[in-house]
Amino acid sequence: MRDKKELFAGCLLGGAIGDALGYPVEFMKYSKILEEFGAEGITELKINQEKNKAIISDDTQMTLFTADGLIWAYERMRDRGIGSYTGSGIYQSYLRWYYTQTGVVIDEFWLKKQPHEEFRDDSKYPKSILDHKELFERRTPGPSCLNALSSGEMGTIERPINNSKGCGGIMRVAPIGVFLHKNPEEAFQVGAEVAAITHGHPTGYLAAGTLACIIAEFINGRTILESINSAIEILKGYSRHEETLKALEKAIDYAKDEEKTGYEVVKKLGQGWVAEEALAIAVYCALKNKDFKSALIMAVNHDGDSDSTGAICGNILGAAYGRRFIPEEWIDKIELKEFMEELGDRLCNLS
Ligand SMILES: [Mg+2]
Repeated sequence: MRDKKELFAGCLLGGAIGDALGYPVEFMKYSKILEEFGAEGITELKINQEKNKAIISDDTQMTLFTADGLIWAYERMRDRGIGSYTGSGIYQSYLRWYYTQTGVVIDEFWLKKQPHEEFRDDSKYPKSILDHKELFERRTPGPSCLNALSSGEMGTIERPINNSKGCGGIMRVAPIGVFLHKNPEEAFQVGAEVAAITHGHPTGYLAAGTLACIIAEFINGRTILESINSAIEILKGYSRHEETLKALEKAIDYAKDEEKTGYEVVKKLGQGWVAEEALAIAVYCALKNKDFKSALIMAVNHDGDSDSTGAICGNILGAAYGRRFIPEEWIDKIELKEFMEELGDRLCNLS
């Protein structure tokens, strides 16, 4: 029997580790990475001297707010029969994230009313997400996310907030796939809606829906390729899906090539600053490598958005194979490890 707890924790920890591995080289060209870290590029988690931990970036910070918003929304719907995952759950959670990054309160009601105070059903989890001071540090938050949230308007698929297809929408939705795994169509839809809060271009949110669906299918016991194919079928039902589909098909195609691998291939998939490229690079690296370390090393050593491609690849592998697939020495080094395990547990218990 597959241990769901293993997969839930694996998805969150794996993503955080990929993010932390890529964060120091996010804005470096490949040649510069080699110059600084040697011929293999960056291969080990960089320890922050002050914290004595490998630090996460905005990708994981926002992912944790997604997870917290899901739990909040679920408990509210269950106990009071009101609200929704996207509108009153995760959107409100992102307003709290916005507060951590800017100090600006968009909606005082939701900031003061801590979800775990009102709806908590388990005293095992005493803390609110806002008690974690690491989440208040600015780790290069994305301008699309900040600008969209500062407007006080919630972007939707029907009313796009902008025309952004940056990877800020996709890099934070993995917990949705994990939590809503029993219904992959719903995981797709909610993943897309949640990305559309801040990213209005169809590729910006459809790539996110695709990732959430792929992750849901892992939890359901499907292989990486089966999960991708299942997500592709659902993706095809959405209008303006072509760009995301093309990028994914390219990744699957390149992964079949026995001869070529590594940076030369990743480069052909793009740099990952935009959603479909980030998804394609992560999927390619997950398909191409048999162990967690090699996959993440390939996913972060390139010219582009290394922490986001690392985070998404880590989410994928963690959800597909579980926590035990991740080297323990890396888990021990990562910041907020206990909080991620707690969130993984809670998501697992409620789903
Ligand atoms: Mg980042």
